[in-house]
Amino acid sequence: MARIGLFGGTFDPVHNGHIAIAKEALKKLALDEVILIPCGDPPHKTKKDISDKAHRMAMTELAFSSLGGFSVSDYEIKKQTPCYSVDMLKHFKKLYPDDELFFIIGADSFHDIPTWWHYRELLSMCTIIVVSRPDIDKSELFSRFAGDEAPPRVFYLGNVSYDVSSTQIRAMVYRRQDVSKLVPDKVVQYIKKNELYTNH
Ligand code: ATP
Repeated sequence: MARIGLFGGTFDPVHNGHIAIAKEALKKLALDEVILIPCGDPPHKTKKDISDKAHRMAMTELAFSSLGGFSVSDYEIKKQTPCYSVDMLKHFKKLYPDDELFFIIGADSFHDIPTWWHYRELLSMCTIIVVSRPDIDKSELFSRFAGDEAPPRVFYLGNVSYDVSSTQIRAMVYRRQDVSKLVPDKVVQYIKKNELYTNH
């Protein structure tokens, strides 16, 4: 039985925080593979807010293709309709029926999880790997599930990520600031070549 990590995100752009998280989850949870899943049209963001999915897919591939233990899935990118995480989990459960699934998310996303479509079903299908993020209080995250009949299986990864976000990187590129310490080189080149984030 393999242990498979699923790491979804907008990845607009993918940054060193994402890479650190994926590497740490692979190591700490002894996963066999981490699959990166760039989203298509996320239900919680409007389309004009985010870059073309082909760009986000390309940047995610550039960031992870030379690292062992990772692959990038176009499952959500190819979907024509908004994709909920519970549907993504079902898809991978079908692909890997005998394997154990781990869903990797930042503490900010885990904080919002009770607002997600069919989140209890999602929680029942996998172990959640929650990655700490500045400003998110750990105890508050978990107290919400205290007393649950079937509490989620959660592994908390503390002190992994840097204090970096895609929002911050987009703003820096817009202001023509250097992002080379926050984003892999190949992705920096891709952003420049395709003139991403110059308008917002
Ligand atoms: P944005 O600023 O556009 O919202 P983001 O930096 O949060 O983007 P996403 O692609 O939305 O990046 O993130 C994918 C997943 O990675 C989410 O679950 C998010 O919480 C998590 N994540 C992203 N950056 C970090 C970080 N620095 N530390 C911990 N988790 C992170």
